[in-house]
Amino acid sequence: MTDRNVPCPVCRTLVNWDSPEAHWRPFCSERCQTIDLGGWLQEENRIPGVEVPEEFLDELDTGDESANE
Ligand SMILES: [Zn+2]
Repeated sequence: MTDRNVPCPVCRTLVNWDSPEAHWRPFCSERCQTIDLGGWLQEENRIPGVEVPEEFLDELDTGDESANE
């Protein structure tokens, strides 16, 4: 009665943490672990603390049209 069934953080499949087959806990599978890791890296790449000036974004948005005046 010590089974711990924990939902996979990615797909919510219940994972039995006490099972010798739960190699990827807390994920249900390697696939879900990879998905989660991927999301993590994307967050990292956002570089918190670095702000892009709004006018720079504006320029990117409108292209060269009426950029010089
Ligand atoms: Zn999963």
